[in-house]
Amino acid sequence: MQLLEERILKDGQILGDNILKVDSFLTHQVDYKLMKAIGKVFAEAYKEAGITKVVTIEASGIAPAAYAAEALDVPMIFAKKHKNITMTEGILTAEVYSFTKQVTSTVSIAGKFLDKDDKVLIVDDFLANGQAAKGLIEIIEQAGAAVEGVGIVIEKSFQDGRQLIEDMGVKVTSLARIAKFEDGKLVFAQADA
Ligand code: 5GP
Repeated sequence: MQLLEERILKDGQILGDNILKVDSFLTHQVDYKLMKAIGKVFAEAYKEAGITKVVTIEASGIAPAAYAAEALDVPMIFAKKHKNITMTEGILTAEVYSFTKQVTSTVSIAGKFLDKDDKVLIVDDFLANGQAAKGLIEIIEQAGAAVEGVGIVIEKSFQDGRQLIEDMGVKVTSLARIAKFEDGKLVFAQADA
């Protein structure tokens, strides 16, 4: 997605060996116009898949997932990272190791929001080692629903996430793919959409 790649080049900051900071448009401040355009690209890519729900994980997946859900005209559900006393029954959970926070947490979705007839598009901000997407796939499969694909805003293709998800038999659609960081600069690979 050219608009996205241009924005990453303009505003993205490389931190250390493998982290990209994009807090001015995606992970802290949100550019809703860009998110809306991203949502439309995901919806176009999955328009034949009969998607009934979009699923993401809090917090930074919520903006792109909400606009994908709008464009597909289906509900969006975000998995919660912390136990909540109002979530009392029928909780589906998975253990997810966070790449950026370096802690494992139990993420959860109330079972009542997913059923076996659902066809789900997962959307997340980043794909690194694939742990967040893998956890969401496990939760959706616990509900007996089908995962039609994983839509990623920014994939770091030099990490293992894509391979892990494809090995689970799930298609990955990334709007920007970073092949490497070289001399403080970003090198893109061919994106999926
Ligand atoms: P994974 O589970 O694929 O290893 O990592 C994906 C999650 O880690 C994303 O949901 C995102 O929150 C976070 N993440 C991974 N890499 C980056 C990065 O380079 N920058 C930012 N801002 N978040 C990242």
